[in-house]
Amino acid sequence: MNKLILRPKEERRLLEGHLWVFANEVERHPEASAGDIVEVLTAGGDSLGAAFYHPHSLISARLLAADLEEADRDFFLDRLAAAARLRERLFPGETSYRLVFGESDWLPGLVVDKLSDFLVVQTTSAGMDRRLDVITASLTELFHPAAIIERNDTPLRSYEELPQRASALTGQAPEPIVIEESGIRYRVDLLHGQKTGFFLDQRLNRQAVARYCKAQRVLDCFCNAGGFSLHAARAGASEVTGLDSSEPAVRQAEENAALNQLDAARFATADAFAFLEEAASSGRRWDVIILDPPSFTRSRKNVSTAKKGYRRLNELALKVLAEEGVLATASCSFHIFEEVFYEIIGEAALRADRRLRLLERRGQAPDHPILPAMPETRYLKMGIFQAV
Ligand code: SAH
Repeated sequence: MNKLILRPKEERRLLEGHLWVFANEVERHPEASAGDIVEVLTAGGDSLGAAFYHPHSLISARLLAADLEEADRDFFLDRLAAAARLRERLFPGETSYRLVFGESDWLPGLVVDKLSDFLVVQTTSAGMDRRLDVITASLTELFHPAAIIERNDTPLRSYEELPQRASALTGQAPEPIVIEESGIRYRVDLLHGQKTGFFLDQRLNRQAVARYCKAQRVLDCFCNAGGFSLHAARAGASEVTGLDSSEPAVRQAEENAALNQLDAARFATADAFAFLEEAASSGRRWDVIILDPPSFTRSRKNVSTAKKGYRRLNELALKVLAEEGVLATASCSFHIFEEVFYEIIGEAALRADRRLRLLERRGQAPDHPILPAMPETRYLKMGIFQAV
């Protein structure tokens, strides 16, 4: 097998369980092409295992297994079945969840969401992309989905020089389907919805926030399909306003409210920043405010602008939060580390002249597991605060 040799002393992170070899850690590249399997060796010649290789990506290799000739049907059947066992244990009876979360399921660059009877697949490594046929066959053999939809229309693919694609790989791309999560039904467009169709990582946070919502006025600033809003309405909120800048998302949220007969939830198309500024000057107040914005940065170089964005957003929200109100605030940017995020909220409180106490420090749902040795797999933070 082709060998990739590391620079001296670059093996430590990998020995601890990180799966990526970065380009600047490579002493000698193999003669291999994107997606080939190569053996990774330390400078001293010890094998660290087999990995997907990419000659041009910033991530030169993604470790797969101690010893592997080819990621074939047996490999995928084994790893996919293990991934399914975890989810069945986590969410018995639930029909929608993230079935595969890439590196965290030791399937680097592969995401699979199960949404009702359908599977939605995304490959962000050349190694996975090249093996999409065997992945599709293995998924079919194990799970017999009604269809497998490819949502390879993510900018992340450009890092591995992969083209943009979205279509049905097996079966037929369905009309929007109805999925159920924690007893609430959502209409989801698998082929055209944002990301892979539905944000599953906030499942437990929606339940957590709902506990504060009974008889409260709730504002959900980045509502998308209405997840937090509908949970709040079901929990007995006196009033729920969901906002999103995307009109299709707002329409979807409205349909979902009707689908669940949760009429307390009202939705509007609006920019959250502009809405909060206007609300602050007109003196409106809410008892619970949820902030679940999109990632403000996908790269390290925009971190300082992103920080300002989070600070401003939280400051504005705190200005319209009622006394003893609850702020549930999230960031899904990996590059904004957890401690930094909590510092930003502290700064926002200072600027808004509010005192905060932290009630819950939360993260992504466990169908998005975290590899402790690989901080890149820990991306979602949510702090639930009370303001006095
Ligand atoms: N809370 C949602 C997921 C939010 S995803 C859930 O539980 O499923 C982020 C959402 O923010 C997207 O729907 C996007 O359309 C919306 N968005 C992006 N920029 C925005 C802005 N400036 N104001 C309001 N919504 C925005």
